[in-house]
Amino acid sequence: MVPKKALITGLTGQDGSYLAELLVTKGYQVFGLVRRSSSSNLGRITHLSDNIQILSGDLLDQSSLMDVITESQPDEIYNLASQSYVPLSWTQPALTAEYTALGVSRLLESIRRCKPNAKFYQASSSEVFGQPDESPQTERTAFRPRNPYGVAKAYAHWMTVNYRQKYNLYGCCGITYTHESPRRGTEFVFRKITHAAAQIKLGLANELRLGNLDARRDWCYAKDAVYGMWLMLQQEKPDDYIIASGKTYSVRELVECAFSCVGLNWQDYVSVDPAFYRPDEPVQLVGSIDKIKTQLGWQPQHTFEQMVELMVDYDLKKLSNSGA
Ligand code: GDP
Repeated sequence: MVPKKALITGLTGQDGSYLAELLVTKGYQVFGLVRRSSSSNLGRITHLSDNIQILSGDLLDQSSLMDVITESQPDEIYNLASQSYVPLSWTQPALTAEYTALGVSRLLESIRRCKPNAKFYQASSSEVFGQPDESPQTERTAFRPRNPYGVAKAYAHWMTVNYRQKYNLYGCCGITYTHESPRRGTEFVFRKITHAAAQIKLGLANELRLGNLDARRDWCYAKDAVYGMWLMLQQEKPDDYIIASGKTYSVRELVECAFSCVGLNWQDYVSVDPAFYRPDEPVQLVGSIDKIKTQLGWQPQHTFEQMVELMVDYDLKKLSNSGA
């Protein structure tokens, strides 16, 4: 049987690397669109390098996208690339829009011209809801983005829906809520906390400064999320789905859980630093997973506590081995 071919943008990120692993296991021929850069950023995918073909291209450059699609002839295209750090979207709003919004127009146009029967997955984000009118949010909740990243993602979402309607492209948007893993950067609060708990346990640090402990998020595990993305492209008809855990936890609960994993009392180490406060905190972002559960049979395979534990364990092992 001829293997299916998939093209992933954002291959070197958390989701890209997990998705590539999943697709390689399923026998796909995997191509990754990677921006040329002078420093190597392939750290998350070195273990897959024999199974993935890297193609050079950039979401800022339409002709490079057309070349890559023509060369790889993918059956499935997953657009996971974006400038995804919300605070940076305020300091670089135009660049965020170039990648996260217009990059998707360029990609959709390239698909339409070069491989119109390819199936397309667009990584939408719960940030499109911003200050939502209702909680939990569903696929029908109005978009009210509150930062340049959310605005760019809303544009990309609607462009995908419009290409589906106008050109009959198979395009799906997965509205993912925050998803975490040991491959997440420590600038995000989940990994910041699990990593710090491990460091403190090993005597490598003695304090953790955090922002708003009452902020709540709907956190799910990145491996569960990428499985949902793949599932969306295996259907007869394209549609949009929320991928979330359906539950929220506060930063305080996260700290408590992470420190209890290493047998420490969090209050002895954590202090609140206004530098980490967000001026534009979303109200209550929590996704309803009724649609994806009923229609695709997807649901998270890891609980909040399991995620915390496996991430703390990962950092304990990694830090012990590195002798840092
Ligand atoms: P986001 O969902 O993309 O905004 O992911 P983050 O992990 O950066 O932030 C999650 C939540 O944690 C936000 O509501 C922050 O206000 C809150 N938070 C509290 N303390 C911190 C901190 O020290 N760093 C970060 N990044 N977030 C923090």
